[in-house]
Amino acid sequence: MGSTGRRGGRRSRNWKNWAVQVARVLAQQIVAETLARQAAQSVPTADQTCPTCGQVGAPADPEPRTVTTPAGDAQWDEPERYCRRGRRSFFPPVQVPGT
Ligand SMILES: [Zn+2]
Repeated sequence: MGSTGRRGGRRSRNWKNWAVQVARVLAQQIVAETLARQAAQSVPTADQTCPTCGQVGAPADPEPRTVTTPAGDAQWDEPERYCRRGRRSFFPPVQVPGT
């Protein structure tokens, strides 16, 4: 019955490392939110037209995108438009912060 009741192993908490990770996650969320907000804003009609034939594209399902930032990768949904005449989808330009 040699139970050795070894409790409380020393866990060195690396606060610096933790803080850096939190900052990275926060920065990624901020970038993703900024992109989503800008994408949700009404896009000028000129940017909604098909680059090939000039027709105004119909809204399509957003495309999940990954943007690489200095803080790491951020995920967001890029708004997509579909041109019925040209049967192609295109993406209205969205300003990506820091590019
Ligand atoms: Zn077109």
